[in-house]
Amino acid sequence: MLYIKTDEEVGLLKESNMLVSRTLAEIASMIRPGITTLYLDKIAESFIRDNGATPAFKGYGGFPNTLCTSVNDEVVHGIPSDYILKEGDILSVDCGVILNGWYGDSAYTFPVGEIKEEVKRLLDYTRAALEEGVKEAVAGKRVGDISFAVQAKAESGGYSVVRDLVGHGIGRKLHELPEVANWGKQGTGPKMEKGLVICIEPMINAGKKETLQMRDGWTIKTVDGKPSAHFEYAVAVDKGEAEVLTTFEFIEKVLNKK
Ligand code: MG
Ligand code: MG
Repeated sequence: MLYIKTDEEVGLLKESNMLVSRTLAEIASMIRPGITTLYLDKIAESFIRDNGATPAFKGYGGFPNTLCTSVNDEVVHGIPSDYILKEGDILSVDCGVILNGWYGDSAYTFPVGEIKEEVKRLLDYTRAALEEGVKEAVAGKRVGDISFAVQAKAESGGYSVVRDLVGHGIGRKLHELPEVANWGKQGTGPKMEKGLVICIEPMINAGKKETLQMRDGWTIKTVDGKPSAHFEYAVAVDKGEAEVLTTFEFIEKVLNKK
């Protein structure tokens, strides 16, 4: 079943998701060649706890950290480590919080220093695919309309859509129904109504769509070693247009200053 949120509950979800947005901006200022992903994880955990919230991923299914940090050909679910970021890497950071019992969940793929033009293009298309999906998160449409829009945008750039992972509803749980696939057909899937809150999170590969699970039990990598990007918003379905509960503005203010 789908949980439809009241306006008040959407407001609470917005607070949780804004804290995630601010957390990602906090670490955005520190992402540069020479620092480790574990360092970013510690900063994020302190920031979340200082703001009266709890990291949502830490302990979730046994995940050991606050952030998922996935570098280059890692798609998602990378575990923070003593890996030292280097010039030209891309780093997907996925972050979740629990604030007042409500979950926030967002992801952004950061350039580390200067990145190749072709990799920047992958980030731009993945971001644009997310925005295309958001346009479809409207009352009366179906989840497949989002899936189709995301896939169409990604494939128009010559990229492939990861099939092994999907977006999801969010609320008092991190993962609620419906599943929000990044590929699919228009007019299929559950009908959306005002107050449905979902995470749309395209995972887009420069090469083949297939992935591999690493032996750490978490990290997902592309099968061909080519880079992968991931951006995620939480959005509340509404009439006319969705309300995006996440913002990348804080992050981009920081990145533009660098
Ligand atoms: Mg996420
Ligand atoms: Mg998610």
